[in-house]
Amino acid sequence: MSETPSATLFVGGRWVPARSGETREIRCPADGELVGVVAEGGAEDTEAAVAAARTAFDDGAWRDTPAPARGDFLLRVAARLRERKAEFARAESLDTGKRLVESEIDMDDIAACFTYYGKVAAEQAGRVVDAGDPDVVSRVVHEPVGVCGLITPWNYPLLQAAWKIAPALAAGNAIVLKPSELTPHTAILMMQVLEELGLPAGVANLVLGPGATAGAPLSSHASVDMVSFTGGVHTGRTIAAAAAPTVKRVALELGGKNPNVVFADADFDAAVDNALNAAFVHSGQVCSAGARLLVQDEIAERFVDELVRRAQHIRLGGPFDPDAETGPLISAEHRDKVTAYVERGVAEGARVRCGGTWGEGDLAAGYYYLPTVLDGVRRGMSVVREEGFGPVVTVETFADEDEAVATANDTEYGLAGAVWTQDAGRAQRVAGRLRHGTIWINDFHPYLPQAEWGGYGQSGTGRELGPTGLAEYQEVKHIYQNTRPQVTGWFRDHA
Ligand code: NAD
Repeated sequence: MSETPSATLFVGGRWVPARSGETREIRCPADGELVGVVAEGGAEDTEAAVAAARTAFDDGAWRDTPAPARGDFLLRVAARLRERKAEFARAESLDTGKRLVESEIDMDDIAACFTYYGKVAAEQAGRVVDAGDPDVVSRVVHEPVGVCGLITPWNYPLLQAAWKIAPALAAGNAIVLKPSELTPHTAILMMQVLEELGLPAGVANLVLGPGATAGAPLSSHASVDMVSFTGGVHTGRTIAAAAAPTVKRVALELGGKNPNVVFADADFDAAVDNALNAAFVHSGQVCSAGARLLVQDEIAERFVDELVRRAQHIRLGGPFDPDAETGPLISAEHRDKVTAYVERGVAEGARVRCGGTWGEGDLAAGYYYLPTVLDGVRRGMSVVREEGFGPVVTVETFADEDEAVATANDTEYGLAGAVWTQDAGRAQRVAGRLRHGTIWINDFHPYLPQAEWGGYGQSGTGRELGPTGLAEYQEVKHIYQNTRPQVTGWFRDHA
């Protein structure tokens, strides 16, 4: 990679510092230790990266590489990621503060995503259409969209990037990746892998830096054909508005306020255990976190008592603490936001059953917030409607199936939800009626690279993963050939 630690932008196949010369210190949120120093890019670096991507796309070296060969390349990326898994996982944990084992799982999922799109890439043959005329050959083909700006968040830094990079490259695009300024290291490692495996220069570019400067040009630039964004809904709106004048393709993976619906006939222990996972894995910094628990009246008291008892015993700690069950929040600023969010809930009448405070003692050096259960909430409260993105779960109750569905659907978001019941018919009925992009039955959180992921409502537009996740990065062209051209006579020849 770079000779100096700050030459961490990858533009046109070269590692370069920011044109401004600025750098940023990255510190581990678990203890504030310095992790590294990286380039702090700005709009002029993004401009250079877009120009490099445009040239690379228009040159066609990657675009015109046969799709099966592009697929082979992605399979080699997957293999290299598996070889370097320990290094990647460690880097991810240092940037995010998440447990090493979680980062290791993320790296497996990232390799699986590249493997999936490596295989799917080979199957982009298009289709022949019957025009109803023996003299016409009609076919529909898929082509890359062009230059794609990929903007990603800090909670699953490389995973969210991989969901974009793998299909974008499989389809033959050129990309400019702008990861979160807080968590740049695995993006740097990823570019190293693409470089060492021989991706043509300029096909993949990396710009680091803040969203408002380094990220914003990717939505407004006329040479960018598509912007794919994962992050908060407010940023998503800004990006969609900035993209509108150039009518570029926009894909948005935004937040969620995801209902976890537990019926009285559910397997009690499994449902409690998974309600903890739903709410507190990665300290709730998960777009699909089950931060809204809905429990049927008959079991509500017992269920919440047990949830609170278990939540109080969750052990917090840094990425390499073998006893830690979950880690810190990403930053002091984010912890302040979570703190204010809970305080607002309490002011509106919510009751703190556990948590509601920062970690103390050994945890004071990091940005820890204790797992928090809020009950006594009503549907209109901000803690029920807004994404908190911290270890906070609200509890609501319902009487029957209709009320459960109505409550679960009463959200502007629509990313994911779960239903817990041992009644198979009810499970299917409720899953069918929930207006969310992923529904789990008797589980929470799993996803598959071969199955689409994305949101209804204000959780976003478009889908990642699965065949649709590839289609997002493709233009569709109809080629119609008349093999027997004739004079039509539609306009008379007045000569
Ligand atoms: P964020 O919106 O603050 O930032 C996301 C990215 O956008 C960062 O790279 C940031 O630098 C960039 N950015 C900020 N302003 C920009 C602008 N004006 N133009 C261009 N880029 C800009 O989000 P975050 O705090 O990093 O991540 C948390 C959010 O991400 C949560 O809301 C979470 O729900 C969401 N998320 C969604 C999914 C999903 O699959 N739907 C997955 C993970 C995270």
